[in-house]
Amino acid sequence: MLYVDICRHFITSQIPEDKLHCALNTFQLYTMSVKEHLIHNVHKEEHGHAHNKITVVGVGAVGMACAISILMKDLADELALVDVVEDKLRGEMLDLQHGSLFLKTPKIVSGKDYSVTANSKLVIITAGARQQEGESRLNLVQRNVNIFKFIIPSVVKHSPDCKLLVVSNPVDILTYVAWKISGFPKHRVIGSGCNLDSARFRYLMGEKLGVHSLSCHGWIVGEHGDSSVPVWSGVNVAGVSLKALHPELGTDADKEHWKEVHKQVVDSAYEVIKLKGYTSWAIGLSVADLAETVMKNLRRVHPISTMVKGMYGIKDDVFLSVPCVLGYHGITDVVMMTLKSEEEEKLRKSADTLWGIQKELQF
Ligand code: NAD
Repeated sequence: MLYVDICRHFITSQIPEDKLHCALNTFQLYTMSVKEHLIHNVHKEEHGHAHNKITVVGVGAVGMACAISILMKDLADELALVDVVEDKLRGEMLDLQHGSLFLKTPKIVSGKDYSVTANSKLVIITAGARQQEGESRLNLVQRNVNIFKFIIPSVVKHSPDCKLLVVSNPVDILTYVAWKISGFPKHRVIGSGCNLDSARFRYLMGEKLGVHSLSCHGWIVGEHGDSSVPVWSGVNVAGVSLKALHPELGTDADKEHWKEVHKQVVDSAYEVIKLKGYTSWAIGLSVADLAETVMKNLRRVHPISTMVKGMYGIKDDVFLSVPCVLGYHGITDVVMMTLKSEEEEKLRKSADTLWGIQKELQF
């Protein structure tokens, strides 16, 4: 018998019946918690699990930039963080939780164990080694494949219906690896791909024209990074083609040096890494933009990495960025661009390079 029950029994047996009701009420007032005093429960939630849960795997510079950008956009009712470095992981979780007053994501959890990720709708993978100064993205490959061999099955076990969004580099190859290991249909495995490259291009184009990036349209496709392809024929402001105005656009003969804009895009990550050691804010913001399209089923078109076998004469299982219609179910459609033969050739060359690496991978 509990101490409270013994007391109640004593009161019931000792207090005269006409005073018993009052005595029991007083006793109850003293034994109830503040919460019991304050809150009258109307309905007990049996399975109070989240409806719009997002997981970020890897709480390094990129993972945390994704996390804060997603939180600031109110995209999830639960955010889960996973990493292998437990102190850092708990520190990041606490730091975000302490900002709860200013956020509208009621639950932020973390853990080394993937059970914290259960029932996620979107899982963003940012874990892995990052480029060192001057190191190419492709150089990271086998190190990050080994990490994915552990991460992907754990994610799939707890969220078998989620969409996977791969950010770790080399992103196109790791999206292929995530697709192979997960066994997911291709529409649910997405690489952040050239979403960031295109954002950088539109920013630089805006700087050159004195117009906000949102009104500067241009698509960088193909492989994220060094061999990405700018589609000059599609560059426009308000539907006015810059190529039609200035046929040399993007060529070596161009006196306005627009080709330099793409070169700056390619060099961007190297420059930022040299200056601050890593890149984080731009990728975080661009991933949150993709997460918004998925969670709100916006069906916006993004330059993201998808399986392109059968497109533009590509014959192997490779992931490259093309304009994709993205929504709650993942990538449902691809917008087929009218590419010049040399642009198609560049895509096929990237595909060959990626396949050459992929077929040697151990997983
Ligand atoms: P970082 O070193 O700061 O963080 C990586 C995190 O991954 C660390 O916290 C580490 O503990 C964690 N990690 C390692 N193994 C893990 C495992 N098995 N499970 C869970 N977590 C694990 O690196 P970063 O700067 O955040 O970069 C992360 C990745 O994102 C790199 O591969 C980088 O190249 C890539 N990146 C991609 C883009 C893009 O546009 N796709 C842009 C920037 C960076």
